[in-house]
Amino acid sequence: MKSFRRELWFEVPARRAFINITSQVEDCLAESGVREGLVLVNAMHITASVFINDDESGLHHDYEVWLEKLAPHAPVSQYHHNVGEDNADAHMKRQIMGREVVVAITGGGLDLGTWERIFYGEFDGRRRKRVLVKIIGE
Ligand code: ZN
Repeated sequence: MKSFRRELWFEVPARRAFINITSQVEDCLAESGVREGLVLVNAMHITASVFINDDESGLHHDYEVWLEKLAPHAPVSQYHHNVGEDNADAHMKRQIMGREVVVAITGGGLDLGTWERIFYGEFDGRRRKRVLVKIIGE
């Protein structure tokens, strides 16, 4: 069995963003040489997500509005976690949007649905953060 591990680094200049990382995962897959197997992609930080959905700007705007309703950033004093920091909402947004995705590898490619793309979701940016890509298979 082959095994491949890579960390992707991100430094988002804003507090929040959604970044399509599908091509970066495909680059890892090509380098791994795996034709049949699984790829795990997970955020290595508790205020960031990896998820799969549509690469459509209207939807990303809707996510932003929806997440801000569920866990508003301000007032930061509403959260017990915000002692010496202001990112309680980012932890909650991460929980909703998820930690990781697992995608099947078939014939050397990501076996995604037609409109499925892999995203990094940042909820407390302006610092360097990592995403783990782990590929196993033959
Ligand atoms: Zn925190």
